[in-house]
Amino acid sequence: MKYRFMRFPEGKAKALTVSYDDGSRYDRTLVEILNRYGIKGTFNLNSGTFAKQPGEWHMTAGEAGELFLTAGHEIAVHGYKHVAPGQVSAIDGIREVLDGRLGLEQAYGRIIRGMAYPDSGIQSLNGGATANEIKAYLKSLGIVYARTAGGRTNRDDNPSFEMPLDWYEWVPTCHHENPKLMEYLKEFKEKDIDKVYCARRFPHLFYLWGHSFEFDNKKNWNVMEEFCKAAADSEDIWFATNIEIYDYTQAYRSLQFSVDNTIAYNPSLYTIWFDIDGTRFSIKPGETKKLA
Ligand SMILES: [Zn+2]
Repeated sequence: MKYRFMRFPEGKAKALTVSYDDGSRYDRTLVEILNRYGIKGTFNLNSGTFAKQPGEWHMTAGEAGELFLTAGHEIAVHGYKHVAPGQVSAIDGIREVLDGRLGLEQAYGRIIRGMAYPDSGIQSLNGGATANEIKAYLKSLGIVYARTAGGRTNRDDNPSFEMPLDWYEWVPTCHHENPKLMEYLKEFKEKDIDKVYCARRFPHLFYLWGHSFEFDNKKNWNVMEEFCKAAADSEDIWFATNIEIYDYTQAYRSLQFSVDNTIAYNPSLYTIWFDIDGTRFSIKPGETKKLA
């Protein structure tokens, strides 16, 4: 019996990402902190609420693009005008996502495939579209993943560190206001995945989310500073945007293996890393490799 698990680039067993919403001017301070520690994130923007001129609560499209994209962060959809998909009909939700995605792609001249649900997300609270309806139309609209909101308290957080089973219901580890934030990070960092039981050596992901204006409201920027400082102090973590994690995972899933796991072929454009029964392998784009 052979157990095979994905490993992130350079053979790392852990990845960390952050996801912040709404594109307020406070994202500048947040990005300055992230950049200083080499942490990558995804910023979820409403293309229908960009500021018309600099200096407003929201950034202009130009300000946001320069801030996020030059440092390698991801810009993702957050609806057109921040309408909660679970509280409107499917057709209104479709228009929100379509207009949101179209606006971002036109503003930045690139393909945008990620999303974070605005407001109450896929919870249907008011007779709106159901979670299944929303997930189905997102796929048709070219969205490949969507993050939920939760984990502000300890009730709906997700400290399993597992990769998402459903990319359209990507549940973060926790919100930055979660009182267990640093406890979870410590557990994540200290876990030696190569030493856990052989069937459970899955890759681990820490996923933090929030809004940068919350730091300004509560004057607690130190929370993010301390989190990033502690997270960055670790050589076995891959710091990546949401879409980088998604794309790498899809590339891993595209690998082809012989029945006995002794031959692998990589049809993707990524160098992919994996672990078979405790041995680390990497395989280059287009390579066929003997594993034994
Ligand atoms: Zn939002």
